[in-house]
Amino acid sequence: DIENLSDLKKLAVLGLGNGGVVYKVSHQKTNSIYALKLLRLDHNAAFISHQAAAREAEILKRVDSQFIVKCHAVFYTLEGELCFVMEHMEGGSLFDVLRVRGKFSEDVISGIALRVLKGLQYLHGMQIIHGDIKPSNLLINAKGEVKIADFGVSRIVGGTPAPCEACMGTGTCAYMSPERVDSERWSGGADYDYYDYGFAGDVWSLGVVILECSVGHYPLIGMGEKPDLVALICAICFGETLEIPETASPEFRSFVKTCLEKDWRKRGSLDKLLAHPFVNRTTSSNVII
Ligand code: ATP
Ligand code: MG
Repeated sequence: DIENLSDLKKLAVLGLGNGGVVYKVSHQKTNSIYALKLLRLDHNAAFISHQAAAREAEILKRVDSQFIVKCHAVFYTLEGELCFVMEHMEGGSLFDVLRVRGKFSEDVISGIALRVLKGLQYLHGMQIIHGDIKPSNLLINAKGEVKIADFGVSRIVGGTPAPCEACMGTGTCAYMSPERVDSERWSGGADYDYYDYGFAGDVWSLGVVILECSVGHYPLIGMGEKPDLVALICAICFGETLEIPETASPEFRSFVKTCLEKDWRKRGSLDKLLAHPFVNRTTSSNVII
């Protein structure tokens, strides 16, 4: 068991997020490698409140699935930092791999989609809305398998009721659904709140990620266009012509359209998508190699 920061030796920086730094560390006693995410709660005036950090810790402690990045320990340091000791994902994030590889074959994308769907099925089954599915929050292990990470803006239904302030703070709304970026127009009225449409929002985000894996850049606006907030929100809410590559298979096209249905009440459910032919292909390899 890891209970102390002094048990861990920092080897390298794996990533910088809005909330903190992620290090590659080794556990001295067992010689095992982990990823350590440190959230500096005090002088992070920016976006991380104690409440948000505690929520992330609470979620990570509950979650145990092969489709979610495992968290082995959570503790506070004397300096007031919150530490997450996580499974080290050797392949880095899908964001980084996409930048290097450009795009992926449909077989690989099918494998990514299936694993994210299963991860979401697990989370939603526990009444957890991830809320921030995007390439930098999907991590890849040494086998080339994708897992969901980063519960910084997630919500447990019935838990701390502080819906989606996160989007504006955490940089981008690029992967957020229409009902999330403009809930007044798209949520369907006062009868619905984030705990109703949040689950479908995770499906939308997956659709954007999947399409990005195929076209090789953020897919809802043109490559040269300036992705300012207004352009993004317009593209998400009103953009009609999806740039799906001509070479894409009919199954891919249908899968992406099912995820990117603007009306969340008509959007594909996880069950429907898990039964979709696009994620039920028999392929020789659907991992990222
Ligand atoms: P953001 O707000 O930008 O999403 P964050 O502060 O919430 O960032 P994370 O998303 O958890 O932090 O991690 C930031 C980056 O660190 C990831 O995109 C990834 O590159 C790297 N990283 C995080 N966790 C791991 C891990 N377990 N193994 C390997 N790399 C990791
Ligand atoms: Mg992140």
